[in-house]
Amino acid sequence: MLPKWETAPWYKAYVDYFEIVEEYPKGSKKVFSIPMRPHFTRDQTETSADGRAFLGDLPWNVIVVYKDKFTVTGISSAMRAHLRFGHISLDKIHCIQKTGIQTGSVVNVRVTN
Ligand SMILES: [Zn+2]
Repeated sequence: MLPKWETAPWYKAYVDYFEIVEEYPKGSKKVFSIPMRPHFTRDQTETSADGRAFLGDLPWNVIVVYKDKFTVTGISSAMRAHLRFGHISLDKIHCIQKTGIQTGSVVNVRVTN
């Protein structure tokens, strides 16, 4: 389970390689719980059937990602360009994108360093 932080560098770099199997929208209730602790106030703590304390509403969207050897994943245009042009650096991929040189495929770099 991961926060759906679409602007985070790690998200942009890796999300294409996983299948998003579930998404919980911001504000969802009772998604995460933790063991009850002695200092928790019982009447102010919502608990699950097995006595765990629910954390508050989700402050952002949360995704569940999955991957195994059968997972069909996407590939980012940056990775496609990297492979297609002989493992060129991300800086060179940025140059291709900036100059608008026609390469035969769209280079839409979302990953920044
Ligand atoms: Zn490479």
